[in-house]
Order: sequence, then C-alpha cells, then structure tokens
Amino acid sequence: MGKIGETTLEIDLTALEHNFNHLKLRLQPKTKFLAVVKAFAYGSDMVAIAQKLENLDVDYFAVAYVKEGRVLRDAGITKPILVLHPQIANLGEMIDRCLEPSLYSPRMLREFLKVASEKEQKNYPVHLKFNTGLNRLGFWSTDVDYILEQLKDRDALKVISVFSHLAASEDSGEREFSLRQIDTFKRISVEISQKLGYQPMRHILNTSGIINYPEAQFEMVRSGIGLYGYGNDPKVDPQLRPVATLKTIISQLHKIEPGESVGYNRGFVSDGYRITATLPIGHADGIGRQYGGGKTFVLINGKKAPIIGNVCMDMIMVDVTDIDCKEGDEVLVFGGDLSAEQFANTANTISYELLTAISPRVHRIIIV
Ligand SMILES: *Cc1c(COP(=O)(O)O)cnc(C)c1O
Repeated sequence: MGKIGETTLEIDLTALEHNFNHLKLRLQPKTKFLAVVKAFAYGSDMVAIAQKLENLDVDYFAVAYVKEGRVLRDAGITKPILVLHPQIANLGEMIDRCLEPSLYSPRMLREFLKVASEKEQKNYPVHLKFNTGLNRLGFWSTDVDYILEQLKDRDALKVISVFSHLAASEDSGEREFSLRQIDTFKRISVEISQKLGYQPMRHILNTSGIINYPEAQFEMVRSGIGLYGYGNDPKVDPQLRPVATLKTIISQLHKIEPGESVGYNRGFVSDGYRITATLPIGHADGIGRQYGGGKTFVLINGKKAPIIGNVCMDMIMVDVTDIDCKEGDEVLVFGGDLSAEQFANTANTISYELLTAISPRVHRIIIV
C-alpha cells in the first residue's frame, strides 16, 4: 500500500475473500450464499466487490433498488440479482435487465404481474417477502391465499424464494423474539410450498443471523456487513477483516494560544497552548457533524487525535498536541487498527451508517 496523496478509501479485495470464506465455513455445504451489495457495496465499490464475489462463485446478489442492479448488469455481472425494495416505476426495467423483484405487498404483486404479462414473460423469477415482526416490508401471513389466487392459472411468474428478515438478529436479549420470527417464517413457507405445489428456496438470516441462528440457514443466507468485515459482535469481529480503510493526510498544522477557538461557531475553545492539524475530509465526504466535539478520534502515527470543534464541509481539525507529526503525514480515519464500528460508536451510531455515508467524492483504490 503506497503513500496516498489525498483522502482515500482503500478497498481490500483479499479481506473480502477472507470474510466470504469465513462466513461460508459457518454454512452447511448446500446452503447458498447471497451477497448484499446495495448502497455501493456498503459505501465501497459495488462493481469491484461484485466482480470479486462472482469470481469466488457466490450464488446470488441483492441490491435495494433497480438502478443499483443496472450498474451491476452494465458491469457484466451475470449471477442472479434480487432487488429488495423495488419501486413500481421501475418494474419494466427490472425485467429488461433480468433483475428479480422482492414482491412484498398485494399492490406490488399486482403491478409486477401486469408488467410481466405485458412483456409476455413466462416463469419470471420472483421472491416473496413476508413480514414476521420487523414491520417494515412484507406480506402478512394472511396474504398467502390472495397471493396464490393471483398466481393461479398464470405462468408469468415463478416463485424462486420465500424470505423474511430478522428484526434483532444481533441482540441476544431478543433471542426469543427472533426464534418466534423464525417459527412464523417456517410456518408460512410450508403453507406456500403446499399450495404452490413446489418448494421455493427459503432465507431469513443476515450476517448476525448466520452467527447467532445457524439452525435457520434453510436454502440460502443473505450477508452484507460481514462481507465488509464487521460482525456486530466483539467475539466475531476479530475473525473478520475490514474491507474499507479510510485514510487522509495532514494539510496544515496550527499553533493555538490559550483562549483561542478553532472552527465554525468557535466550537472548540482552547484552555492552553495546543497544536491542531487540519485534515481534508468533512461532512461532504461522509464524516458527519456528530463526529465533532472531541468524542471521536483518528489515528496519526499510531496515536489518538480527537476531532475538535465542528466538522466542516471539507475539513476537520484534530488535536495533535502530544503527537509527533508534520504536514503531509498520513492519517487513519478508520479500518486497520481503528475499526469503523469503534469510530461509529463514539457518536452513537453503527458501522453500517458510517460506511455507507462515505461519499463519491472520496477517491477509491482497489487493493487486490
Ligand atoms: C441489508 C439487508 C441484508 C444484509 O444485512 P447485514 O446485516 O448487512 O448482513 C439482508 N437482508 C435484507 C432484507 C437487507 O435489507
């Protein structure tokens, strides 16, 4: 890894391979692996990540929206792609780009049937999403008969899978709730297969589900955050490797006198002689204002430098009074010795939010 000349997100495909293999070892040999690459592959690089995973022979991809699936198809990705949250306006393109919808409501089912029939589709692959307690997206268990009624005597659609999503798979305090969700899901899948006359794949586990509910793998699992190196569990995190490492450099050092302030609205007022470093990264790059005020730190030459005052659009200022450093030195924002989860936790948020916020302005380097 050479010297960087600007704020850079390094994306380590070897770490991705390690995480993929680690998660696969937790699966039954026959369980399929769906890689979730929505939101630019959790803020990294959707195409580079998907190409690597396709080479590793992942079984399925998932994105949130049709436009994300389009990017993958344009890049030559050929594996099946599940679109988790399709919008009715994009259903034509869904079919044109061979993307597979999650059908989650009677309205979505009717609209997709209409479009698929207009386009004279036969056995077009679809996935039925059921709500088992998250109360976000999904059919109710009482919708089964309606769904079957709609599908009956028509061969436009083929149900490839039935799936659901756990509300608290990382939370051992909600174990009973999660087990109840899994039970409800089992019941619904049995009813669906009996009434359909064939057995679609079943999947309910995300990364934390894979870790905490291995008995509920069914035919497929869906992993996002684990592939990127975070397991929502201090026992699992050391076994995974962060794919994304965010680095920047020191633009300028400032000597601050007692009583002087730093940054907008005088967010930091110094009680002594201090040295600050200005870094070329701000809330427009994805380091939000919640990381200001001295709670969050970056690493410079292995030492903690707190982010002081208010985060600016293009810059942050850090306190380097006790750090031996100079202008041009490299700064570790997260990744490597400072996990994104740790960084995010200082501002009461989670790795998911921090990672997916890294904006397109940040230069990306792929490390193979
Ligand atoms: C985002 C998402 C996932 C991936 O969850 P991770 O916790 O990142 O593994 C799985 N399933 C659904 C429905 C999702 O929206």
